[in-house]
Amino acid sequence: MFVLKRFHFLKLICCITACLMLSSCVSYQTPTLSSAESSESSITSTSEPTFEQTSSEEISEESKPESSEETSSKPESSKPASSKPSSSKPTESKPKPSEPESSTPPKPVTYPKSPKGLNTVYLTFDDGPTPMTPQVLDVLNEFGVKATFYVVSGPGAKYADYTKRAFDEGHEIAIHSACHDYKKIYQSKDAFFEDFTKTQNWIMEVTGSGTPTLQFRFPGGSSISKKWAAPSVMNEILHTAQSMGAVHNDWNVSAGDATYPRPSKDRLIQNILPAAMKLNEPVILMHDSKDNKNLCAALREIIPVMLEAGYTFDTISNIKNPAQHRIYSESGTPASGGGYVKRQFGA
Ligand SMILES: [Zn+2]
Repeated sequence: MFVLKRFHFLKLICCITACLMLSSCVSYQTPTLSSAESSESSITSTSEPTFEQTSSEEISEESKPESSEETSSKPESSKPASSKPSSSKPTESKPKPSEPESSTPPKPVTYPKSPKGLNTVYLTFDDGPTPMTPQVLDVLNEFGVKATFYVVSGPGAKYADYTKRAFDEGHEIAIHSACHDYKKIYQSKDAFFEDFTKTQNWIMEVTGSGTPTLQFRFPGGSSISKKWAAPSVMNEILHTAQSMGAVHNDWNVSAGDATYPRPSKDRLIQNILPAAMKLNEPVILMHDSKDNKNLCAALREIIPVMLEAGYTFDTISNIKNPAQHRIYSESGTPASGGGYVKRQFGA
């Protein structure tokens, strides 16, 4: 018995020593995911964007028109009545099989630190404002970090106030769309810029800013499938945008939160953190949707880990290498873009 206790004591000493040696790193317990979840690759978004995947992400969102979400006066508890009609339980209350005891223990992930100022993260939220916007703003305030909201213009006054609040609190408001309808906006260059201008004007009206923003994100991303946007049309749009000084940013990390069911907190963390930690300027795609209920909890874990690792949080206008899946090409079809510089650690 005594020997056993001594053995544990020695083990404890060893652990403490190991921890001290790793003190220059940020440790984070990776959430354990069910085997089904963990089999999905979460890091694909760091490499070349998987175009089909990114497009389909937003297509799923497309089938659920933004406007119906925004004009709805239903209380927040109303669920997107999709799938699971049989279950009396709301979708997200389904008890996650608690795997901690049975499955393997959480893998401690250690993220190395880098000096402040070398790496910057851009949190981006698409499709708001929605009833979730104030909650997202509260989380950002808790940590004193800034983010970018790619808005869908034209919701009611109440939601417009959320955009105004975001602007007043120092976040960037950028153009996403007015109708978010792929069929309409990618019909032609003119159709695209008509929609673009509507949102640009709406932002000025709501925020009181006298300067029209030239920052935008394509609905579905600039890598949107040919099914929705002919490459020649997309190239024309890219060319026009370039000539007017408009800058698009896609993303190089995706939260994967545009699909149903909405991801769990752990899944969101797994989708975001390992991928973001590899990049010098991660641009993280997330969705400001009222039923994306685990996002704020995930952000409360992600933000401090990234701060601790040395990342600065900034708004998209300050990015050095825009994360662009597609850029204008004189050949007539868009070329591959960039924005995938590896994280820097200094000398
Ligand atoms: Zn969108």
